[in-house]
Amino acid sequence: MRNFAPLICILILLCSCGSRTDLQPTQATILPKASLTNMPATSSPSKTPSAIDTLTLTDQDFQDARERMVIRSIEGWGIEDAAVIEVMGIVPRHEFVPEQYLDQAYENYPLPIGYGQTISQPYIVALMTQELGVSLGDRVLEIGTGSGYQAAVLAQLGVEVYTIEIIGPLAELAAERFEKLGYSQITSKHDDGYYGWEEEGPFDAIVVTAAPDHVPQPLLAQLKVGGTMVIPVGPIGGIQELWRITRLDEESYQSSSLGGVRFVPLTRIDETQEEAP
Ligand code: SAH
Repeated sequence: MRNFAPLICILILLCSCGSRTDLQPTQATILPKASLTNMPATSSPSKTPSAIDTLTLTDQDFQDARERMVIRSIEGWGIEDAAVIEVMGIVPRHEFVPEQYLDQAYENYPLPIGYGQTISQPYIVALMTQELGVSLGDRVLEIGTGSGYQAAVLAQLGVEVYTIEIIGPLAELAAERFEKLGYSQITSKHDDGYYGWEEEGPFDAIVVTAAPDHVPQPLLAQLKVGGTMVIPVGPIGGIQELWRITRLDEESYQSSSLGGVRFVPLTRIDETQEEAP
């Protein structure tokens, strides 16, 4: 089992919804304990037009930004798994963010993707991926496809990904991205992920990227014995706790806390308002 230092996290949340131009994101930011005193304050995406003309950014610019992100925000924030570090340096995060945020695609904070949702902070994606401890060929379920970035990071590790998104247009956009980028080992659908994906289970690992106030029973049931789930659990709009849950046998599970986090809530189909971004 990996030696994991407990995390205490600071989270900054700014919430609101709006049209494309005045859209303000749900910002979830997590800082590792070691960073509380020696990290500069985490910045938020700028809401004013960027000084950089995003159309002039080249593949080389994105690659350089990605390399800097890996050094500063992934290795620099304590991610140690070599395979996770490698894939964070490969997956093109800029392909998963809206055009107006291209210049911030590799910054260590979440960015708005419309419908009041966000693409998660790169560090959180790396942390959750590391804690899942997946192996080549594993079957992994993700609840909360969002932009599709977390699913792509998992696929890049050589696992088979099943991902569910409750907001139809986000599910469609992510599916288009998977196709365009050649992630054929990702299967996605538009549905309420609370119930998991029984026909495709059981899974070696389950990652939940929106926060319920309890661990959904169907997800526990769809985890293989020996499998791992990483899930934030807690009150809507409050601080949630990120848990790593391992299934020990048919009936028992072992859980350990990875620290405080702030995620968008796991909604249910009747609560979702699929309004235009
Ligand atoms: N993993 C995403 C980040 C997701 S933000 C990424 O890499 O970009 C959380 C996502 O969970 C949102 O898109 C939200 O719509 C979705 N979500 C919330 N409740 C859900 C549910 N019950 N089932 C499936 N998806 C859900």
